[in-house]
Amino acid sequence: MAQIKLDRLAHSYYPNPATVEDFALKKMDYVWDDGGAYALLGPSGCGKTTLLNIISGLLVPSRGRILFDGEDVSTKTPEERNIAQVFQFPVIYDTMTVAQNLEFPLANRGVDRGEIRKRVDEMLDTLELSAKASHRARGLTADEKQKISLGRGLVRYDVNAILFDEPLTVIDPHMKWQLRTKLKELHQRFSHTMIYVTHDQTEALTFADKVVVMYEGEVVQIGTPEELFERPDHTFVGYFIGSPGMNILPCEIRGDTAVVAGHSIPLDAEYRPSRNARVELGVRPEFIRFADAADHAAEKGFKEGIPVTLESVDNVGRHRIAKVRLAEHAMNVIVPEGQVLAASDHKIVFDSERCGIYANDRRLDAAFAGRGFRLDY
Ligand code: ATP
Repeated sequence: MAQIKLDRLAHSYYPNPATVEDFALKKMDYVWDDGGAYALLGPSGCGKTTLLNIISGLLVPSRGRILFDGEDVSTKTPEERNIAQVFQFPVIYDTMTVAQNLEFPLANRGVDRGEIRKRVDEMLDTLELSAKASHRARGLTADEKQKISLGRGLVRYDVNAILFDEPLTVIDPHMKWQLRTKLKELHQRFSHTMIYVTHDQTEALTFADKVVVMYEGEVVQIGTPEELFERPDHTFVGYFIGSPGMNILPCEIRGDTAVVAGHSIPLDAEYRPSRNARVELGVRPEFIRFADAADHAAEKGFKEGIPVTLESVDNVGRHRIAKVRLAEHAMNVIVPEGQVLAASDHKIVFDSERCGIYANDRRLDAAFAGRGFRLDY
């Protein structure tokens, strides 16, 4: 297991990149902890596979270095880096049995027979494949084959890191959940450094201790699932994490008040965005409530609130999602179970503590005079 350091790393697929747009990965400087479970999350084309391939050694970065436990491995092959990789589609030997497939990576590295037997049995048991240990891989289902692929990566205890590139794509939804849980269990038991690429937020949030959110070739935030939900550092994180994502409203700032379409929204502190910045207020649908909800209005005597047009209400099980319009801005508001909405004259109230102010998509720190939030690279 190793600590992985990205040292002023950047990558362009062009031989002579001229502008920042020519880079598939923009400059990044990060340290990923030894034994951490990280998910690389982001939309198609944001650079996840490029970064994974640089870490694994399939691609040499055009700028900067990659270090494993302080050693520069930038030009080393995947074998020299001693990492295990699990890809989107099964990589197994069809003519071998399930057990032989799991034994192979260990026998190849000269692990002794007794130890191989022990680890393979343990892995067969973990993956619930013991009953099929002596079956040829050829006859197995796609799910079972991918489980073997996962097992071939996980059976090695000595690896510096295990890299997963969308490994559950071919797995059926029920099994996906089971395998994710297994991976988490195995991580807790063996503390491998794991990096898991996905564009599915559920997969990322349930697997990882830390989620690395990527957008247009940049890492826009690294955080726990809670941090990404509670305090998105970038509007993209707010929008991408959560269902539905964060509401993002163009606004003007006047000290500790945001003005949206002429309506004042009190904030928890003063903000000072720089003069020409594009300023937006970000608030999750969970942190807005209807001031006109019949039960609340009667109980608490709400008079305040910003008038909105209610366009629809969708029942999604635990709660409802109201689609409203504040002037020309479409927004989502979560309506808690049991809350009764008034028939007309709808008004909403923002939770000041949960409103973020964003300048050119980056979250501002409160009263951080004259300077916008800066990512630490
Ligand atoms: P996906 O989820 O679709 O795999 P991704 O987030 O993994 O996407 P990458 O495959 O790393 O993204 O691609 C990042 C950018 O680099 C994209 O603009 C892509 O078109 C470009 N790119 C990827 N591979 C190459 C290549 N071999 N040559 C040129 N450009 C490439």
